Amino acid sequence: MISSKEILNITEFLKQSGLSYEADLDLKEFSYFRSGGLVKMVIYPRSMDELQRFVKFMHEKQYEFKVIGDTSNLMFLDDVTYGVLLSLKHFSSIQYNEEEGVIVAQAGASLPLLSRQALLWGITGYENFEGIPGTVGGGIFMNAGAYGPEIKDCLIKVYGVRANGEKFELTNDEMNFAYRETLISKHAGEYFITHADFKATKGDTQRIFERMELLHAKRHKYQDFLYPTLGTLFAGTEIYSAIGRDDKKYTLMLRVLERLIFSKKLRRERPMNKRRLNDFVCKYFGWTFDVKPFSDKTMNCITNRGQHTDKILEYIELLKKHLPETARLENEIIYDFRYKD
Ligand SMILES: Cc1cc2nc3c(=O)[nH]c(=O)nc-3n(C[C@H](O)[C@H](O)[C@H](O)COP(=O)(O)OP(=O)(O)OC[C@H]3O[C@@H](n4cnc5c(N)ncnc54)[C@H](O)[C@@H]3O)c2cc1C
Repeated sequence: MISSKEILNITEFLKQSGLSYEADLDLKEFSYFRSGGLVKMVIYPRSMDELQRFVKFMHEKQYEFKVIGDTSNLMFLDDVTYGVLLSLKHFSSIQYNEEEGVIVAQAGASLPLLSRQALLWGITGYENFEGIPGTVGGGIFMNAGAYGPEIKDCLIKVYGVRANGEKFELTNDEMNFAYRETLISKHAGEYFITHADFKATKGDTQRIFERMELLHAKRHKYQDFLYPTLGTLFAGTEIYSAIGRDDKKYTLMLRVLERLIFSKKLRRERPMNKRRLNDFVCKYFGWTFDVKPFSDKTMNCITNRGQHTDKILEYIELLKKHLPETARLENEIIYDFRYKD
């Protein structure tokens, strides 16, 4: 929680230090999911020195703030006013050091751009990241990945600033990479990633291109591109079978329906659309929604169709009750970092 007096102190510090920031932004316009109330300040350091000074100041004053990337995994809550966000959007360069065989990408650079840049350089290993709509920093934080490969597979070393303002370096081993988890995500708020060294393994450009094309097309089949979403809701979970795993009748009906609706013959030539399967699940369990909180392409993905985020939270809770305890929420709901007048 941060107060109006503390916001005034921060503003004074930013002005004195010449750091750029924006005040009173509407998160419905700013955030990827187009949700949330206002945010009092978003800070945009332009250099390592500015970042260190800001982080140190906040640490000494014990003021809380949250670092963000493209917010493509974050749900801000409607009617909540948040305090301070730190954006590294000016840390956006991606460079290829051919002599050392290393790509150096800054935290605020886009992950899809890194993937496309690698294609231009004829470097393989980044094909699968083209459709992950976040930043390099956000991707490293949670070890993002798709169709198998993850950030950990191409990362050499991470650099940044710790909460006390001191610089840090972490090797791939030291990052303790796991499925959608890292040392940094386990200690959220302690490490601010500024850039990273990545492997630069030369590959066949045509093959890289073909793989990217294939994965790009695949994504359009199972992912909503019209309503704002946050990607997968529960990581590593086959949601349709998991929600009724102990119910034999449901499991049997699901199998039959999946065969009927998604037989290869019917599916050919048209995007996979799970609307009918979703209707079956809702009818079976007696779930009704004024506004659908999930995607027509999968119930494992929330969609913003203009409803209040409370309704989306209700849906998440509903799913949690039906899913095994091991099902892990991948999207991050932002309950903290609030502003109080
Ligand atoms: C349509 C869609 C498809 C998606 N597909 C995938 C997918 O295939 N695979 C996948 O893994 N994810 C996927 N996601 C989820 C999301 O894109 C990833 O989690 C992505 O890595 C988040 O990056 P971001 O920059 O948006 O981070 P944000 O959402 O802004 O932040 C995520 C977390 O990272 C932290 N963070 C961000 N930057 C830094 C930094 N510089 N230093 C320290 N911490 C930082 C934040 O504090 C936050 O806790 C998808 C999302 C959408 C909307």
